[in-house]
Amino acid sequence: MPDLPPPNLKLTVDRAALADNWRALDRLSGEARAGAAVKADGYGLGVKLVASTLAEAGCRDFFVAHWSEVPDLLDVVPAEQISVLHGPIDAGEAAYGIAVGARPIINSVRQARLWHEAGGGPCHLMLDTGMNRLGLPIAAIGDPAIAQLEVEVLMSHLQCADEDVVANDRQRAVFDEARGQIAHRAASLSNSAGIALGSGYHFDLTRPGLSLYGGIPRAELADHIRQVVTIEAAIMQIRNLEEGETVGYNATFTAPRAMRIGTVALGYADGYLRSWSGKGRMRSGETILPVVGRVSMDMTAVDLGDAPQLKEGDWIEAVYDLPEASRISGLSQYELLTVLGSRFERA
Ligand SMILES: *Cc1c(COP(=O)(O)O)cnc(C)c1O
Repeated sequence: MPDLPPPNLKLTVDRAALADNWRALDRLSGEARAGAAVKADGYGLGVKLVASTLAEAGCRDFFVAHWSEVPDLLDVVPAEQISVLHGPIDAGEAAYGIAVGARPIINSVRQARLWHEAGGGPCHLMLDTGMNRLGLPIAAIGDPAIAQLEVEVLMSHLQCADEDVVANDRQRAVFDEARGQIAHRAASLSNSAGIALGSGYHFDLTRPGLSLYGGIPRAELADHIRQVVTIEAAIMQIRNLEEGETVGYNATFTAPRAMRIGTVALGYADGYLRSWSGKGRMRSGETILPVVGRVSMDMTAVDLGDAPQLKEGDWIEAVYDLPEASRISGLSQYELLTVLGSRFERA
C-alpha cells in the first residue's frame, strides 16, 4: 500500500491550553479536585490526546458515557480512574465493568442489582435531584440493593447550572441532605458551569467537560478559559465571479459585484453544519473571509476579496471561538465540539 497523503482538514488541539484550562478549573474548584468529562471522544477532540494531556496535568478522574468508550481510554489511564456514566444497562456490561476494572455509575435499583449479580465491588452512585433524566430517585435510596453498594463517589447533576435560577440551590440542598442517607467516600455535583456557582457546589470532586475544551457556559469563567480548538482546511479551487452569478446549492448567494471565491474542503459531513451557510467566517491570518452560499457535504465557499494573495492549495482557518460561534450558528458550544467529524487529522 502506498503511503496515504495527509487529509486536507486539520483539527489542532492546543494541549497547553487544555492543560491550563483543567488547572484553572481545579483551582476554581477550591478544596475539591477536578476530574474530566471525556465522553464522546473527548467532546470530539480525540479522547487519547485529551486524556493523556489531562493525566499529565494531574487529572485522576475520567468520565465517559458508554462502555464502548472504555478501551481507548484504557490505553492512556488506569482502569480505576475511568467512570462510566450510563452504568450497566445489562448483565454483559456489568460483567465487562468487573472484568476491566472500570467504575460503573449506578443510576437505578435495577442497575444496582445487575452490578451485585455480576459480582459487585467499588462503584459510584448517581442521584436524581430534579433533572429527571438518569439517576436514582431520592425515594429509592433506602432500597437494600442500594444500601449494599460500595459507593466511592456519590453524585448528582445540575440541570440549569449555566443559568441563575433557584433550581440550582434546590438541587444542591436535596443533594446535601441525601449525603447523610448513604455511605460514600466522596461527593460530586458540579459540571463546568456548576464550578462557577461557588464553593457550596464543589463538595469533593467536580466534573468539568465543556470548559476544558474552551467552552464558556457562564461569564465568571471567561477570564480563566482559553480556546483549545483550531480548524483548518485547504482551498481546492479559486474562481472569479461576475456580478449576478450565484454560488452553491439552490443559488442562495448572488454576487453583488465581481468577486473572487475559494472552495474549501470542509463541509457538513465534517461537522461544519449548514447553520453556517451565509454566516460563517474563515480567516487567513487577520483577514476575515466570509462564507458565501450554502455549506455542502464536503465543501464550503468563501469570499477571498480581502485576501488576493491566497492561492489554490493554501490553508485557511474556520473562525471557531466557541461562545461567539454559538451565537452566530445557533448551535450550542457542546454541539460545536461534538459534531466535528472523523475526516480531520487530529493533532
Ligand atoms: C457531561 C457531563 C458532565 C460535564 O458537563 P459540562 O457541562 O460539559 O462541564 C458532568 N457530569 C455529568 C453527569 C455529565 O453527563
